[in-house]
Amino acid sequence: MQAVRIHRHGDFEVLGFEDLPLPEPGPGQVRIQVAWSALNHLDTWVRRGVPGHRFPLPLIPGCDFSGVVDRCGPGVASVEVGQRVAVAPGFSCGHCLACTSGRQQLCRKYGIYGETTDGGNAEFAVVQEENLMPVPDGYPLDLAAAFPLTFLTAWHMLVDRCQVQPGDRVLIHAAGAGVSVAATQIAKLWGAEVMVTAGTEEKVARGLENGADHGCCYRNQDWTESAKAWAKPGGLDIVVDHVGADTLPKGIWLLNKGGRVVTCGVTSGAEMKLHFAPIFFKGLSVLGSTMGSLGEQKKVASLIFSGKLTPVVHQRFAWRDVQQAHRSLAERQAFGKVLLQVNPDLT
Ligand SMILES: [Zn+2]
Repeated sequence: MQAVRIHRHGDFEVLGFEDLPLPEPGPGQVRIQVAWSALNHLDTWVRRGVPGHRFPLPLIPGCDFSGVVDRCGPGVASVEVGQRVAVAPGFSCGHCLACTSGRQQLCRKYGIYGETTDGGNAEFAVVQEENLMPVPDGYPLDLAAAFPLTFLTAWHMLVDRCQVQPGDRVLIHAAGAGVSVAATQIAKLWGAEVMVTAGTEEKVARGLENGADHGCCYRNQDWTESAKAWAKPGGLDIVVDHVGADTLPKGIWLLNKGGRVVTCGVTSGAEMKLHFAPIFFKGLSVLGSTMGSLGEQKKVASLIFSGKLTPVVHQRFAWRDVQQAHRSLAERQAFGKVLLQVNPDLT
């Protein structure tokens, strides 16, 4: 089979194609013929490398993908060959305290396809049976690849970590980022009020189309003043932050008593100075979040497939143009997901 495979970290040219033997599913595993694969910021980290972190190179990237079941390993009973599926990107040991408590993302052996082991930028991929999410008839496989990682991340941040409530005032940074698109829709689904920030007026407008109630272009206006005016009285209840150093320290000052700031990334820098006075006197929570449980993933899938949540696609590329697709993601021009079409015959 053909696959994109990274042998070393670097610029876009490390994304090369090669011929590999067809992977065989072991017990409890299923081989998928991949239809679509979606890019995430994680793919950028896998490509560029992360100081102090060792990825298992060579590696086939791609944590989000959809396709059709091609072959079932011994003991697989819940799906049959031909079933259309989306794949939950996170896998875990299934036996430890974290796993049996429904907190798979905290398992010491937790991994992600395309990061910890081979992923979906290939004609075929082998995954665990429990990671399969059957796609209903009529639901397109491109959208089925576009939701798993970002909607799971946003769901876990808002629903589990922040306990979002109806009427909460929620600030979401970088409206067009995959996690932010998902967080906006999920906060609205829970009856919260949403403000988004973005670097262009066009992205602010897209954020409002995506369901946000208020938006601020931070290049034209001070987003902290805009948030203060919008959130009156008291301040924001929740800040969803994956920007880090540029935004998180300021966000702390905008929170209402009992407010929560939740972070799943630090794209502008990980080291920052936090003022702890408001954190104690307002009873604030600073919460970290990565991925979510398999149960949350399947709950999110049911809301996606029933149309209550909708993936937003920025651009579709033939997977031969994987380097261009990565460039589009890295340039942060995207509003929503960048997709790779691996097999045009599967829809
Ligand atoms: Zn475990």
